[in-house]
Amino acid sequence: ERADWLARALGRAGVMPQQEAEQAIRDGRVKVEGRLELEPFAPVRLGSNVFVDGWAHRLEAPLHVLMFHKPEGVIVAGTDPEGRGTVFERLRAVLPPDMRNFEWYAVGRLDRDTTGLLLFTNDERVVQHGTSPDKHLPKRYVAQVAGKPSEETLARLREGIVLEDGPTRPAGARLLAPECVELVLTEGRHHQVKRMLAAVGHPVRTLHRQAVGTVSLDVPVGDWRSLSPGEVTGGL
Ligand code: URA
Repeated sequence: ERADWLARALGRAGVMPQQEAEQAIRDGRVKVEGRLELEPFAPVRLGSNVFVDGWAHRLEAPLHVLMFHKPEGVIVAGTDPEGRGTVFERLRAVLPPDMRNFEWYAVGRLDRDTTGLLLFTNDERVVQHGTSPDKHLPKRYVAQVAGKPSEETLARLREGIVLEDGPTRPAGARLLAPECVELVLTEGRHHQVKRMLAAVGHPVRTLHRQAVGTVSLDVPVGDWRSLSPGEVTGGL
């Protein structure tokens, strides 16, 4: 039988975010199967009946995976030291009430100035799968660069170039416009696109992620949509 910690289970089941749940439990607002539980990390069976402030909930965690079109300027982290905002705040602001209280995890990272496809889920196993280096899930980026890369340069990017943390895997690289390159990577090292393009003499001016696996971004900036079960099982 599947079990979890009470606070995390409440977050996963969409009752309230995990941190709020921890406080609510300590405040004596949560009963599990009729019994008051004051320990946020008490183990709990999924499927249990839970009462929060007298309201009944079932601790079930339906799998949700959604796409979000990350705007420029927000950080993929729990808090923003610069105070310009996090993607989690932006996402919660556009989600309907019944989706807002899940504990959302980002699948991978994008730099603050990078826009585009960011997947979110309420299940860490999806995060592990989506970010696992040995799954080689292709990620498609579009970069505006300084200068026009030659065919020879694109060939070098495809074959792999040596960065300070080792050679890159074979990649897709083509020109979409004179100063616009599409790169398809099957790994996700820190700042990898920017480092690869800088290494061949074409520093990135703007960077956008268009696709992860077979899931392609199709919502406007700042907006989101749920992935269908088929997109989740077939695409990621
Ligand atoms: N590569 C980068 O350099 N930045 C990103 O945000 C994603 C990939």
